[in-house]
Amino acid sequence: MGLSVAYAVRHHNVTLFDPSGLPADNASARAGGMLAPYAEIDHLPENFLGAALHGISIWKNIAAKNDIGFMANGSLLVAHKEDEYVLERLAAKLPGVPRIKAEKIAALEPALGNRFNAGIYLEQEAHLNPQQVLKALAQDIKFEMQAVAPQKIAKDFDIVIDARGYRAEMDDKELRGVKGEIAIVRNTEFSLSRPVRVMHPRYPLYIVPRPGNIFMIGATVIESADEGLSVKSALELLTTAYSLHPSFGEAEIMEMRVGIRPAYSNNLPRIGFDGNVIRCNGLFRHGYLMAPVMAQCVADHIAGRSNNFISLFLNRHPERSAKREVEGSKTKKDLSTTDLRSSAQDDKKGETDDHHDQRAKEKYQRRA
Ligand SMILES: Cc1cc2nc3c(=O)[nH]c(=O)nc-3n(C[C@H](O)[C@H](O)[C@H](O)COP(=O)(O)OP(=O)(O)OC[C@H]3O[C@@H](n4cnc5c(N)ncnc54)[C@H](O)[C@@H]3O)c2cc1C
Repeated sequence: MGLSVAYAVRHHNVTLFDPSGLPADNASARAGGMLAPYAEIDHLPENFLGAALHGISIWKNIAAKNDIGFMANGSLLVAHKEDEYVLERLAAKLPGVPRIKAEKIAALEPALGNRFNAGIYLEQEAHLNPQQVLKALAQDIKFEMQAVAPQKIAKDFDIVIDARGYRAEMDDKELRGVKGEIAIVRNTEFSLSRPVRVMHPRYPLYIVPRPGNIFMIGATVIESADEGLSVKSALELLTTAYSLHPSFGEAEIMEMRVGIRPAYSNNLPRIGFDGNVIRCNGLFRHGYLMAPVMAQCVADHIAGRSNNFISLFLNRHPERSAKREVEGSKTKKDLSTTDLRSSAQDDKKGETDDHHDQRAKEKYQRRA
């Protein structure tokens, strides 16, 4: 999240602080990199879909100038015979999205052959490579490898963005950590062009292709911020890969890791204001999908421009946000007219926000 904001306001003088290095070893580094608003429909309210599709379009623009492994190949959901009802259940929430059969599945992913007879192809979805993203966004950034307390450094900067992820829980009691365990394997006998989700009633896991026949298998969703990886989870992850294709039996395990997703009680991301500190947190399962949209909201807010998406991320702290929001706006108005003047490039982006929002809504309505 922090890097996304830093990128969105890169025409200002930005310093990034992170005790974990650059790129950091954090939740963002563990992620699948799927940009999957439809497959995640159970975890993302419908009113976030426009923003999510806008997020994909921002990544596409970033990918035009940076090698971030962005692929707009859609994503594929499949189910074994006995689990087809799970697929049907999800399909019922996506009216207008056609079910596909073995032939189309094999055409999309030849390596799967005719192993699956039922699937859903979500062609508007995309994926990217988190490691490449983190490197690309970190280019040319002024970096200090240290932990900071946002409120304490607020006097030294015009604006401080607090994007500490789960670590902000020490100041933000509403934040919780949700553990995600993953496995990275190399399978030279297999290839995929897009993420594949294997629908299952208990282990709804996915496999994301990375360059060099490397696959990320993810991810568990456990209500805990403990960073240990259990044998049970390791078995689930590896069994999912094996159930997708038996060649995974011979795959090389490269690493098995844990990431802690920052989440609020409604599992939705928030932007909050406290004087000149802007908090961006709670991205839960949607860090890559939502971070560029939130970052643009922050950039527009600093520059005094409107952004239709910002309301999605506000008012999540009803008891204290209203007052701070007003105070924050006053501070930002002063700053935006003096120190933090916007670039011409960002002005242009701001103008297109309404258009993007409208187009995204229309796209979803067309599908629905
Ligand atoms: C296994 C897994 C798979 C996922 N897959 C996807 C996916 O496919 N698609 C998707 O959209 N999302 C996915 N997510 C969600 C996404 O990764 C998270 O929502 C996102 O990474 C959260 O980003 P963040 O910047 O808030 O937190 P983090 O990535 O954890 O970054 C917070 C940073 O703040 C730093 N920090 C902490 N304290 C301080 C301090 N005091 N001073 C300075 N810096 C500090 C930390 O060192 C860390 O680097 C996944 C998450 C996990 C765990």
